[in-house]
Amino acid sequence: MTFPPAREKLQRRAGGTLVIAGLGPGHVNLITPEVSTALAAATDVIGYIPYVARIAPRPGLTLHASDNRVEIDRAQHALQLASEGCQVVVVSSGDPGVFAMASAVFEAVEAGAPEWRNLDIRVLPGITAMLAAAARCGAPLGHDFCAINLSDNLKPWSLIEKRLRLAVEADFAMGFYNPRSNARPEGFGRALTLLKQICRDQRPIIFARAVSTEAEVIKILPLQDAQPDMADMRTVVLLGSSTTRLIERAGPPLVYTPRSVSL
Ligand code: SAH
Repeated sequence: MTFPPAREKLQRRAGGTLVIAGLGPGHVNLITPEVSTALAAATDVIGYIPYVARIAPRPGLTLHASDNRVEIDRAQHALQLASEGCQVVVVSSGDPGVFAMASAVFEAVEAGAPEWRNLDIRVLPGITAMLAAAARCGAPLGHDFCAINLSDNLKPWSLIEKRLRLAVEADFAMGFYNPRSNARPEGFGRALTLLKQICRDQRPIIFARAVSTEAEVIKILPLQDAQPDMADMRTVVLLGSSTTRLIERAGPPLVYTPRSVSL
């Protein structure tokens, strides 16, 4: 943690800003220049502990790291600092609009102090996990696709199952975020059982862990061979549509979904 010098304190009075930025999936080269510029101008960076840990400390910058379960408190804190004149950047991994802080900030704006609505608030996109993972193995999301958060922290499990069924019926390729955590060890196994039952084919499933970091591991296998313990909270899971196929070659196969479908 660093504390701003007096000069920064003067700048704070000039008018605050709130930027909600995506840091991409992990590698520094996947942070957009626009996000880097916003971070360089920040007086305060706010976010979940591992995301704030990706920001280098420097004089004039205060880092506010908090636990995962306090999104609304974190959003209110960011809005309060911006309304006091700070240059605030709220950081998310990937894209801030994908199961991340942008919606939490807007929930806080909607329910909060009327003057928060008039703040200078901008959302800066980032490369979301499913797109970084897809690029690693070819083009599995090359036709129509959807993204589903498999956590039932903020919605009932029955709704997740309904969306899985309908997404298979619509023949989307899918990206699954938050597939499995220590607090929710069972759900992903139930999701896999359901998907194996309703798909019944050998479409590929991809387990992409810690994409673009040193810990990256990508596994490509037929859906029917997938096991619950292949996923954890650092994994995004991609499931092909009925037309997704593999090009075998030396080394890992290329996975792609053709751009056209004929009925
Ligand atoms: N806003 C983020 C998603 C946050 S939800 C984004 O756009 O990517 C957190 C989930 O994202 C994790 O449980 C995992 O499913 C996925 N995820 C984030 N970073 C990842 C990475 N580098 N590799 C694989 N999955 C990742």
